[in-house]
Amino acid sequence: MSHPTQGRSTLAIHTGQTPDPITGAIVPPLSLATTFVMDEVGVSRAGYDYSRSGNPTRSALEETLAALEGGEAAFAFPSGLSAEDTVLRVLTRAGDTVLYGQDVYGGTYRLLTAVLASEGRRAVPVDVFDLDATERAIARERPTVLWVETPSNPLLQIADIEALARLAHVSGTHLVVDNTFASPALQRPLAWGADVVVHSTTKLIGGHSDMVGGAAVTAKGLTLPCGRTGPGGSRQVGAELGYLRNATGAVPGPFDAWLASRGLKTLKVRAASASASARAIADHFAGHPGVRRVYYPGRADHPGHDIALRQMDGFGTVVSLGCDSEALARLVCEHTRLFSLAVSLGAVESLIEHPATMTHAAKADSELAIPQDLVRLAVGLEDANDLIADLEQAFLTAGEIIATWEISRLEPNAIPTYGLP
Ligand SMILES: *Cc1c(COP(=O)(O)O)cnc(C)c1O
Repeated sequence: MSHPTQGRSTLAIHTGQTPDPITGAIVPPLSLATTFVMDEVGVSRAGYDYSRSGNPTRSALEETLAALEGGEAAFAFPSGLSAEDTVLRVLTRAGDTVLYGQDVYGGTYRLLTAVLASEGRRAVPVDVFDLDATERAIARERPTVLWVETPSNPLLQIADIEALARLAHVSGTHLVVDNTFASPALQRPLAWGADVVVHSTTKLIGGHSDMVGGAAVTAKGLTLPCGRTGPGGSRQVGAELGYLRNATGAVPGPFDAWLASRGLKTLKVRAASASASARAIADHFAGHPGVRRVYYPGRADHPGHDIALRQMDGFGTVVSLGCDSEALARLVCEHTRLFSLAVSLGAVESLIEHPATMTHAAKADSELAIPQDLVRLAVGLEDANDLIADLEQAFLTAGEIIATWEISRLEPNAIPTYGLP
């Protein structure tokens, strides 16, 4: 049972995860069945009839997620983007405007500006880290939705959720927060006034690089914008999310839901450990000769540090490093041994990537492009000292390669050219 005073590890381990009443199995069994037997026509035994409409393993995950985020209801999806798409379709119609933080995930940007925009929804970027600019944009654009990601990706800027919720609500705008980077272990946006939280459960919640999933969690009693009624006949956002998900079939498989539930049980300890390592890496590389700037909200020199201190319960598992040059950034990415060169984050393995050409390539030629010299580190659960040593050797190797390029440019004959006549 969920109890509002219980801590998040207790909630994650016990809410929605009660032992099987028949066998006593302490882990609720994985329910793969697609259909459910009825004893009488139209009367289901436990509210389940067909697995697209409802599945016990999925329900268990949703109960845990709703408790962790302090929401009314949670809805699991087959991916983070599927959750985002469904939320945006429930909250907006053609002709509506979505005001979005300019630093949002590349896939969110593509969904808003290419897919939903082609269907008549307007997508307008705003600097959500500048409250005056956001207030003016809300007054000017009258958006139905304000879409915010905090900490943002990959620059790890911190948006003030409480202040943004206040600004949004003055105009009847719904605030959606993508809580993927923090996870409910480190941040609960609904408690600060957000209306909907979305997640890519692929990241910290799943936590083991072995499933793709998403989720949306609604605030208590949340109704549709502008007094509308949705196609499912309800004014309640939760009811319409359930309706649209069933109508379009955007449901996760039971095994992915089960893996997400399993991930949630260790989320808090994983998030705490990886955040501590991220902090150690950020502190180590501040002032490093190859690094012009460290981006980590846990550091006092970060512009969002004070807000993060108030709004978060830890500063997150991602650190970005602004390197001396694009060449250095790319070479560091290619020369780590423990950090794997891969997109994604929040897993047991540490990952490194070059956002400008990888995760954020969709923004490449726009005014929202990411600096080319940036490296993003998604810190995992290896020992922090080993991770720091790995990065140090990658910077060293990268620096040596660049030095040989420079020598060859200054003295073209200094480098032997094999195989040429
Ligand atoms: C990965 C990610 C998404 C998209 O989630 P998928 O599960 O890959 O569809 C959305 N937002 C953020 C912040 C992400 O990191």
